[in-house]
Amino acid sequence: MTCSGDKHTATIPLPAIASGPAEAAHSGIREVVNLALVTPGCIRLEVGEPNFATPAHIVEAAVDFARKGQVKYTATAGLLSLRERIAAKLDRVNGIKAGVTNINCSVGGVGGIAAAVAALVEPGDEVLVPDPAWPNYRLMLSWANGVLVPYPCAPANKFLPDPREVEGLITPKTKLLIVNSPCNPTGAVFPRKLMEELVDVAVRHNIYLLSDECYDEVILDGEHVSPASFCTDGRVISAYTFSKTYAMTGWRVGYVVANEKLSDSITKILESNSSCIPTVCQKAAEAALDGPREPVQEMVRAYRERRDLCVGLLEEAGMLISRPQGAFYIMADVGRSRTDSRQFAFDLVKTKQVAVAPGTAFGGSAREAVRIILASSPQDLSVGIGRMIERVEELSD
Ligand code: PMP
Repeated sequence: MTCSGDKHTATIPLPAIASGPAEAAHSGIREVVNLALVTPGCIRLEVGEPNFATPAHIVEAAVDFARKGQVKYTATAGLLSLRERIAAKLDRVNGIKAGVTNINCSVGGVGGIAAAVAALVEPGDEVLVPDPAWPNYRLMLSWANGVLVPYPCAPANKFLPDPREVEGLITPKTKLLIVNSPCNPTGAVFPRKLMEELVDVAVRHNIYLLSDECYDEVILDGEHVSPASFCTDGRVISAYTFSKTYAMTGWRVGYVVANEKLSDSITKILESNSSCIPTVCQKAAEAALDGPREPVQEMVRAYRERRDLCVGLLEEAGMLISRPQGAFYIMADVGRSRTDSRQFAFDLVKTKQVAVAPGTAFGGSAREAVRIILASSPQDLSVGIGRMIERVEELSD
């Protein structure tokens, strides 16, 4: 950007911008996306969003509301009518008893998680973050000036953490433990006992636990466990979204659930950066909660079928790490290619026109793996994985 006009010609460098965000690396997935965008015919298995359309009744409800013209600001935390429906959903799906004052609606799950991080983390506070993890936690901590302490969710342990290892990383500066089940990028779903052990660690050391449950209704096998259903002393913050369950990524509606005092701080943060989320989108979210469950069940059924397809292909090629139980991701072991996964992902776009997300974008534990999106068509998955296996074999010769 340039500012024209004599008076505004800069002669000395501008004051420094805050070092945290300035020095943070962009997401390692974005680099592959950029290359895929300029590669004709590229099969896109790298971006984490459903390939389904938002169910029609949700779209209709939003359009209908917009036509009526009552599109005004709402309370920062969201329409009361939406928060009441969310409270009912939390009880029904998550076993969480929450009132409307515990809920803040946000710009996607990301907005709620970022506001919770901003409300809790002071400069120098240590935050335990899974490795591998969704890269946005790192970006949030960079501007909160928190210190990221990764805890391994190792491929050899089916991408599950060891609570003793997590506990061993706690210091007097630790403020928060972030858990993410079902997990992006691994598809791991934490069993109840593991979740209980992690909560015990948080209680024993008196730290907060932020449970990112943005894939809570995308369960392929087993059960989803919400820590706030059994830990009710106020230390658990739970985050959710409409993006994944209802194929509503672009509507940008999520919510975060916390004790009343923390919720009030989160509201003030949201007030400063969004005032409220779009009213039309809040109405769409209400329609999602009021509407039939079948569209959600059908999408989950499709992800399950695609998971089985990919598990079969990768297992046969000796590249399966573990069978995902939730979310819509699967990790493939590309260690035999003898390149790091970042190099491998670039090479794969260039040589085979297939884009996958490199494990390095998510942390060191997954550096020999790549993430594939199950929310892609079965045709793209078969062809894309087939070409990827071919490339690993070519490189390992
Ligand atoms: N948490 C995780 C683990 C995610 O993967 C995502 C989206 N990729 C989110 C939160 C936030 O999603 P959204 O902002 O669309 O609700």
